[in-house]
Amino acid sequence: MLRQIAIVSGKGGTGKTTLSASFSYLTRERVMADCDVDAPNLHIILKPEVKNAHKYIGSKKAILDQSKCVKCGICQQVCRFDAISFDDDKYFIKEYACEGCNACVMKCPTKALKLIDSLSGEYYLSETQKGPMAHALLQPGEETTGGLIAEVRKEAVRVAREKDIPIVVIDGAPGIGCPATSSVTSANYVVIVAEPTMSGLHDLKRIVQTVEHFRIPMGIVINKYNINEFQTNKIEKYCEDRSLEILGKIPYDATVKTATEQAKSIMFYECPASHEIRKIWNKIENKVMKR
Ligand code: SF4
Ligand code: SF4
Repeated sequence: MLRQIAIVSGKGGTGKTTLSASFSYLTRERVMADCDVDAPNLHIILKPEVKNAHKYIGSKKAILDQSKCVKCGICQQVCRFDAISFDDDKYFIKEYACEGCNACVMKCPTKALKLIDSLSGEYYLSETQKGPMAHALLQPGEETTGGLIAEVRKEAVRVAREKDIPIVVIDGAPGIGCPATSSVTSANYVVIVAEPTMSGLHDLKRIVQTVEHFRIPMGIVINKYNINEFQTNKIEKYCEDRSLEILGKIPYDATVKTATEQAKSIMFYECPASHEIRKIWNKIENKVMKR
């Protein structure tokens, strides 16, 4: 049976990708899915070689046929997104601002406007040293959509089923919005990475609520726990009160920075952080594979 493990955090920069890349090296067989399509950096460590690329059409944009335009200005009046300008004696669409709402198309008296598909990004199936990886790239100026993340997840699951690979490891989108929820919806287990900072507990609470909503089992990892033991204690107390399991506490370790600078996984180094991550993975694997 295929298991999907998602690694998420209430906000970016908590060490989520370091942990995801480490799990990638610790599994015997896995498919990786980089669902952090807004700021993907898993590829820096895993160095995927693209095998298949697919275009992702996530939105529509208006285009204007100048030859049919009688310059009545109605389109500009109805556009709530300020996406239509008048300059040099003609109306034109500001592509980056157009939300494809269709209001201008409906109101144009001469049918000079129409909506066309807009390329929002591409998603890929690639090969890495440790197995397949699904990932994506947004077009410049495009916002992350749950749709593109869903395609990455689906591609990872499809190839796992095809090759009979038992685990999909998902590096989820940070936060609690649509990208984050799209990263976890079909997961069997969620690992939440928290950091002991002033906002760390607040971010943790928000993402815990999101995961609870989907009724997915979860465990917490506190990263760099010893940089602020006071905040770490507060996170531990919160987890204890809510019966949330702490899977492990990773110490601050300068080797993580060295590994990042060398674009390598921390699992290539013998150090306190890699030892703790190994223990965490063993716990997760035991839990998830037993279900
Ligand atoms: S509503 Fe149509 S005709 Fe009028 S300015 Fe806009 S594009 Fe031109
Ligand atoms: S489709 Fe909507 S957002 Fe785009 S230009 Fe027309 S009215 Fe504005």
